[in-house]
Amino acid sequence: MAEGAHEKKVPHVLVFPFPAQGHINSMMKLAQLFSLAGFRVTFLNSEHNHDRLLRFTDIHARFRGSPDFWFRAISDGLPAEHPRSADRLVEMADSLRAHTKPLFREMLISGCRDPEAFTFIVADGVMTFTIDVANELGIPIFAFRTASACSFWAYFCIPRLVEQGELPFDKDGDMDRIIRCVPGMETFLRRRDLPSFFRAKELTNPVLQYVWRETLNTPRATGLILNTFEDLEGPILSQIRSQCPNIYPLGPLHALLKSKLPNSMPSSSSSPSSSTSLWKEDKTCMTWLDSQAPKLVIYVSFGSFATVTQGEMFEFWHGLVNSKRPFLWVIRPDSIIRKGKASRITKELEEGTRERGFLVEWAPQEEVLAHPAVGAFLTHSGWNSTLESVFAGVPMVCWPFFADQQINSRFVSEIWRVGLDMKDQCDREMVEKMVKEVMEEKREELRKSAQKMAEFARRSVVEGGSSYSSLERLIEDIRSMSL
Ligand code: UDP
Repeated sequence: MAEGAHEKKVPHVLVFPFPAQGHINSMMKLAQLFSLAGFRVTFLNSEHNHDRLLRFTDIHARFRGSPDFWFRAISDGLPAEHPRSADRLVEMADSLRAHTKPLFREMLISGCRDPEAFTFIVADGVMTFTIDVANELGIPIFAFRTASACSFWAYFCIPRLVEQGELPFDKDGDMDRIIRCVPGMETFLRRRDLPSFFRAKELTNPVLQYVWRETLNTPRATGLILNTFEDLEGPILSQIRSQCPNIYPLGPLHALLKSKLPNSMPSSSSSPSSSTSLWKEDKTCMTWLDSQAPKLVIYVSFGSFATVTQGEMFEFWHGLVNSKRPFLWVIRPDSIIRKGKASRITKELEEGTRERGFLVEWAPQEEVLAHPAVGAFLTHSGWNSTLESVFAGVPMVCWPFFADQQINSRFVSEIWRVGLDMKDQCDREMVEKMVKEVMEEKREELRKSAQKMAEFARRSVVEGGSSYSSLERLIEDIRSMSL
């Protein structure tokens, strides 16, 4: 066979995440799975995030042994020092559409003349401009929505919510009233559990418009990849299939990758070697965890986007110290908004933290959650964090910040029963109460259901499991569509 003909048979997949930590993490796991399947892979990051990966990880050294795995970077259109925080989401999305889209198109066109031309694209489902470009150039494309299936389905139901008068959102209305028009969630979804973007006063709100447009555009891709699994979100996946018939639920992706890596078993204690952190991981917390008794530590982290006001930070701090439990707390340098009057650091806070606390700016989270000393996770309910906690069998206390997190925390507490939900409340008494409940009063009940769900997660990623089989189908489909 001529070499060119052989080359053509190996797909070359371009993987393009939205420029944010949670999106990069799960899409990198998928890219690695493609590489293990023998595909050639190009991972496309924003220049801004690519620089951070180079600064804070050993990413290039790690992929040196994979000659068919390439990194490329593309401008997100924003100046280097421009903030890329949660409140700038629309600005980021607009800039990607206005500036990155033409660059992306140019890159694909010049790539078409290249022997390494992309034969397939997997792009983030919140950047559906990629579908316009791929369709125009005739390159097959799948969308990957990296958040929960339940949030994706809720976004899909925006037109129904408008029809039923639930949107625009009435901020003065009863937040605990049940929403009846999201199929599959009629009995438990309260107004306060809707994704935070729904709390907009007007339908013209730019963030609401953005998620609405991106969601309705998603089915224009030939397939939809989700980081979830049948035993977790099966009923919601059935609802989604009515709109997007070709879906691939592959979650938890970090565990699926572990199960596929040579000589690795997907046990919750195996540690990932593939950090894609945009902050420098502080591994000293692992030594501190080693010195703690089993299952007594509460791990606290609000992910890569969430911010807290100084007042909220003090409420969490008091609550954690007052709970008298050891705690490991991730405080990102950019996560505290200095608003209002600063509180005084009391002697009690200082002493309680010295005796029982450990603070870091960024942790190796998958390893932390797999550590035997960790008994619970106080989380912002980001989807990756939720799946990582589910897989590790660690019960959660949820304090959702924004986006899908409000609906994720409802499923955690009410449907899967693997945690408690303290959304919309943040005072020291509540924090202390929640920590005590998860560590004492409700400990056995929550731990039991968390262990059960962890077992379902483990089964989904081993041979014969639902996510494992979905991956096999995905690999085959990409192979045949690439020809
Ligand atoms: N993460 C981490 N170290 C930390 C905090 C978070 O490695 O100290 C990782 C975490 O494991 C997860 C991701 O960052 O994979 C956060 O994604 P998630 O979807 O939970 O929340 P987001 O940051 O998008 O709000």
